[in-house]
Amino acid sequence: MKTRTTLRPPSGVSRKEADEIVDKGMKSAVNALPHPCFVVDYRGTTQYVNHAARKLFGNVTAGDPLSFRIRAPSLLEALDRVSNAGPAEIIDWSEKVPTEQWFEAHIAPLWSVSHGNMAVPRGRPGLILVTIRDLTDTKRLERMRADFVANASHELRTPLASLTGFIETIMGPARDDATAREKFLQIMLDQAERMRRLIDDLLSLSRIEMRAHVQPSHIADLPTIIRHSVDALMPVAEELGVTINIELPERPQEILGERDELVQVFNNLIENALKYGSSGKRIDIHMDNQDMSGANEAFKVTVKDYGPGIDPEHLPRLTERFYRVDVATSRQMKGTGLGLAIVKHILTRHKAKLEIDSQPGEGAAFTVTIPRHK
Ligand code: ADP
Repeated sequence: MKTRTTLRPPSGVSRKEADEIVDKGMKSAVNALPHPCFVVDYRGTTQYVNHAARKLFGNVTAGDPLSFRIRAPSLLEALDRVSNAGPAEIIDWSEKVPTEQWFEAHIAPLWSVSHGNMAVPRGRPGLILVTIRDLTDTKRLERMRADFVANASHELRTPLASLTGFIETIMGPARDDATAREKFLQIMLDQAERMRRLIDDLLSLSRIEMRAHVQPSHIADLPTIIRHSVDALMPVAEELGVTINIELPERPQEILGERDELVQVFNNLIENALKYGSSGKRIDIHMDNQDMSGANEAFKVTVKDYGPGIDPEHLPRLTERFYRVDVATSRQMKGTGLGLAIVKHILTRHKAKLEIDSQPGEGAAFTVTIPRHK
């Protein structure tokens, strides 16, 4: 047998006054909750809507049925069951328009309160509290993780399949063919190298992600970091016949940052300029300390190449993991599709940002804006 407690008005206070006290207390409690909440009566009519719900669902007028604002059949059916003395329920639903969104609602009867003078039929809760959680970000993250694992496995499986194929060929049909063996072994070495690069990049990404919320605390000199990257890549530039022009301040320019991670940022950007933009035969690296907002002084470093550039439709997606404008070209250039994702993660940790500017045929400019250490 379920027992239900009903608030009894203290002596000297009328039932109506007691209801008003409960009403006010409940409203301020519901308003203090971080999640969107609707308080509805047993008919499904909205009696009260908190700030968070207004923010998520727009203006909801008290007195309107909840179904005016939320049409999810599963929610309305659960509300019906709870208002007919059913137990509290949790349900979820998704909406497709205007964008894909996921929600979870907790629908709980409030047995001990009534609303104003409204007569509540016997055996029905005075009010019902509908608390909603927006699961869109969580779901999106889950999907991204699943996609990432699928992509990473696929990227590793391709060279692995090729390795297995060549091993079988060398053990079988090409057993006695020294020339073919030689050729296949070279391909196998390339494929193994590709797997190693991919694993290195995946590990890099996961290490950076683990430290995503740890603020860098070392003081580093930005021009030294950039010069270090340029020196490391100079032999590649020479081999490709590309000139690197650098314009950096002579004096130290300090930032708070992890030196090795920032070296990786500039390595990746300069390496990309060399890989994809070598036809322009020139790369400009320029640093200044103008800050567009004027509020927070920051340095801007631009790596500009004069290669084929990037079509505007690709620009917003370039920092996604495994996103490549042309997979075949990236593979040919020993790319993994993770370089710019690593850059973005490192910069986020440094409260820095990356802007990409490009016109097809006119090269590409990658600009890093990073706060100056004060
Ligand atoms: P990858 O390992 O393929 O180089 P990145 O994440 O470093 O991966 O870059 C993603 C894609 O962005 C590349 O595959 C390439 O298509 C494009 N890209 C990056 N830098 C440049 C550039 N300087 N010029 C033209 N395209 C570029």
